[in-house]
Amino acid sequence: MYDLVIRNGTVVDGTGLPKYRADVGVSGDRIAAIGRIRERGKDEIDATGQVVSPGFIDGHTHMDAQVFWDPLGSCSCWHGVTTAVMGNCGFTLAPGSAAQRDLILSNIVRAEDISPEAIGAAVRWDWTTFREYMGVVDKLPKAINYAANIGHSALRTYVMGERAFGQQASHDDLGAMEHELLDAMDAGAIGFTSSLSTGHKLPEPDNRPVASNHGSWDELAQLVCAMGSTGRGIFEYAREKESRSLDPKVRKAVNDRLLDLAVKSGVPITFGMPAGTPGSQDLLKLLDDTAAAGGRMFGQTHTRGISHVLSFKGRLQFDDFPEWAQVRALPYEAQRKAFRDPETRKRLIEATQRGVYRTGGGEPRKPTYKHMYVVHNAVSGNPTVEALAAKRNVDPVEVMMDLAVESDFNQLFMQFDETTVPKSDEESLATLRHPRTVMTFSDSGAHVSLIMDTCIHTHLLAYWVREKNAFSIEEGVKMITLAPAVAWGFTDRGLVRQGCIADLNVFDPATIAPEMPTIENDLPTGARRLKQKSAGIMATVIAGKVAFRDGEHTGALGGKLLRSTAGGIQ
Ligand SMILES: [Zn+2]
Repeated sequence: MYDLVIRNGTVVDGTGLPKYRADVGVSGDRIAAIGRIRERGKDEIDATGQVVSPGFIDGHTHMDAQVFWDPLGSCSCWHGVTTAVMGNCGFTLAPGSAAQRDLILSNIVRAEDISPEAIGAAVRWDWTTFREYMGVVDKLPKAINYAANIGHSALRTYVMGERAFGQQASHDDLGAMEHELLDAMDAGAIGFTSSLSTGHKLPEPDNRPVASNHGSWDELAQLVCAMGSTGRGIFEYAREKESRSLDPKVRKAVNDRLLDLAVKSGVPITFGMPAGTPGSQDLLKLLDDTAAAGGRMFGQTHTRGISHVLSFKGRLQFDDFPEWAQVRALPYEAQRKAFRDPETRKRLIEATQRGVYRTGGGEPRKPTYKHMYVVHNAVSGNPTVEALAAKRNVDPVEVMMDLAVESDFNQLFMQFDETTVPKSDEESLATLRHPRTVMTFSDSGAHVSLIMDTCIHTHLLAYWVREKNAFSIEEGVKMITLAPAVAWGFTDRGLVRQGCIADLNVFDPATIAPEMPTIENDLPTGARRLKQKSAGIMATVIAGKVAFRDGEHTGALGGKLLRSTAGGIQ
């Protein structure tokens, strides 16, 4: 008898090959049979009219802290994600002793906008080495699977202490970093990550870039090559701003050295390159050139470009301006009055025109109203603030104030950065269709009060597959299952195939979609976050057990911390 039979569904197996009708039988945590199954299962799902696919794999998350207080792995778990790679961009909670805790965390809290209070309340710092940290994460209850990178900022801070934020590494420092990195790999870390993005800063008033930014390229290259000598591991990093320079020569110099590193180290290299990133045409070429030169490199794309979700109940770009701070500190009833008062409105609008906006990693940017949407639908079809302002013949900020008041402050706005917003569908599709990119740049677990890109997997299926018909369902599923599984090296995941781990989604291709985000204060100590569920996923199976049914957790906690081994990541 099977433990679970998913009956009458249409299998979209992750390979990109044509879908077919079949039952799927699960024994223990593995797929045991695919075909016409006559036996009963201890548990059964009637998947008539539904797609049965592999669980989705997200290669770019920052769940490192959240995994301590959220056994579900939300919001990823609500979008069909069954495996999340954490520790990206150099940001990890290990290595580092309890005494170094605040210094290690200073890298992460602003750059990734993760509440230090929530971390303080929920994380018992029971480790020094990365190996010990993995042992702690191993024991946490988990609904979904995780795999962990070791981060350069933590590694550098662990070895160099305060010197990590300004000094070059000595010979001994480098030796100590290398030693810890290799031990982390031996313990099952799946890769090494870093950030050369100067947008990743320490909390104010310090404002220095995070630790990884103070290392030389030679330091980075030496660590990547050391990892390469193990024959395992992937290198991910948030790229240097020169890669987005308007000067092609500047872009070429940093792209060339990256190509060289990929070839020299033998390590697969990956980085975020959502469509719209200046220089993204160079980057697509870089991926191909690296492959031609014998290296391995892949880009991480996004379904729509990174956006900030703003609202009067959450955060606004204007909150720091004194005129706004004064009003925003009031109870909503008083705010309502203020936003209706012509004199106050005038003052507030002027402040938005005069004010100096922040530019840090995950902070709301200066608005461009033609790239700011009034969100009524989580998939598409939303008007811009600029268009509504023209229609009403008012200032864009007035539109925002009016909509806030009219909606009892619930109206959400979605703002894309002018310099990185995809300019057309063609531009988005050029990066999504490139065979050396993976659609995975969710940043789940980070920026939880401002960015809600955890939904990109369901957004891909709702928008690009169903609405735009730009990909078949087989192609769309492959992009978020087998493609990331192969890129990161998940040996027995990403396919509906006998013998593979039974991480599966059962979803309705006609309705799967992200739902509207909401603002909640449900982090430890009541910190705020955006929360977003999805529609159309009937069941998510993890390690053979139904973990989510119609968006509700069943209580199953079969997720594991996956480890890199000589035989792949398992
Ligand atoms: Zn990241």
